[in-house]
Amino acid sequence: MLATAEALGLLLDAARCVAEHERIDTLDAANRVLAEDVVSPLDVPPMHTSSMDGYAVRAADLASASDAAPVALTVSQRIPAGHAAEPLADGTAARIFTGATVPPGADTVIMQEMASASDDGRVAFAQTPAVGEWITKQGADIRRDSVILPAGTRMTPQALGFAASVGCATLAVVRRVRVAIFFTGDELRMPGEPLAPGAIYNSNRFVLRSLLEKLGCDVSDLGIVPDRLDATRETLRRAALGHDLILTCGGVSVGEEDHVKPAVEAEGRINMWQIAMKPGKPLAFGAMRRGEAAGGDPGDLGEAFFIGLPGNPVSSFCTFLLFVRPFLLRLAGVDNVAPRFYSMRADFTQKKGDRRNEFLRARVNEAGGLDVFPNQSSAVLTSTVWGDGLIDNPPNHAISVGETVRFIPFSELMR
Ligand code: AMP
Ligand code: MG
Repeated sequence: MLATAEALGLLLDAARCVAEHERIDTLDAANRVLAEDVVSPLDVPPMHTSSMDGYAVRAADLASASDAAPVALTVSQRIPAGHAAEPLADGTAARIFTGATVPPGADTVIMQEMASASDDGRVAFAQTPAVGEWITKQGADIRRDSVILPAGTRMTPQALGFAASVGCATLAVVRRVRVAIFFTGDELRMPGEPLAPGAIYNSNRFVLRSLLEKLGCDVSDLGIVPDRLDATRETLRRAALGHDLILTCGGVSVGEEDHVKPAVEAEGRINMWQIAMKPGKPLAFGAMRRGEAAGGDPGDLGEAFFIGLPGNPVSSFCTFLLFVRPFLLRLAGVDNVAPRFYSMRADFTQKKGDRRNEFLRARVNEAGGLDVFPNQSSAVLTSTVWGDGLIDNPPNHAISVGETVRFIPFSELMR
């Protein structure tokens, strides 16, 4: 059996980033991955700006100012934000507002609360200001020609705004990863269809398709494929065309009704992994040859990757989150694919550790600790809806109340 980390390492080593790039509007680039560094063409802020409403002055002009002998200066100009500033006339002050350009010649801003303006157009100061106060220097936030977002960044809403703030109207991004998915099992029906004896609803279709879409993949959903070798092979051949990854669900064990393994063997290559994790365990990884007509992408060996997930709903959910998600992000060009985890207090006891690496569905309680769902069976989805995330519990490890455990929120695993 493979350890979870070993299996993930093998997957990530095999992943090759999609080679095609496209240039798209920044407004449409949410969730997309940068194919090139974003370099700022300008300083931000583009000039020295005031961070207060007040007066821009030369500090030296107020060298003698004190409570006993305030110094009064003529107000020589008024500078609202968004307006150009004239050079500061000698021995004067400029009225200035937050975000406005500091006039050339001024070296400090005094907030209006520290000034007393009079009706004769003069303003008096009772203190000598420090040079540079309340001025945001040109380029203090971003220097011109600096890389503000490196290639491989996945564009969050704030990253979009950051790119826009330096005037980037378009971005070079990796093309979306194309995924074909299908489901095996003669027992599967779609909601809306009657359930014959022995049939169940295809809940995994809803879970996996939605997870793929959340990751920003282009999804071709090929539906339910009957438990027959010829049908499975035919669907695999179709799926290999024009897709980077073929994802299947169910039928990947070695039972008589499991046709995925022999079908992929016939059309490509497959490794069956027994992973020492619970839920999960079987995961198939391989590649499918593309037909001649597909004209595979240059450098991709004319193959589509293949991942076969187990059919049990919680197993397919967890193996997707822990293996398929990082693999897909790597295909999309993302460097750091590890989900963030939190060290949290267990408010429960688990007397016996499993010999496999458990991923327990857990929920954050009002006391800031973690509760686990009592039924951790891999066949029922209840725990995944009840929970906020997974406790990554190492093999052979019992958990006692108050202990610190490693918690990975679903929000981290679905980003
Ligand atoms: P399998 O991996 O095909 O042996 O399936 C394992 C278990 O998961 C069986 O009880 C299946 O009925 C169930 N199962 C397989 N595919 C799905 C699916 N798409 N939705 C819900 N349950 C499924
Ligand atoms: Mg099956």
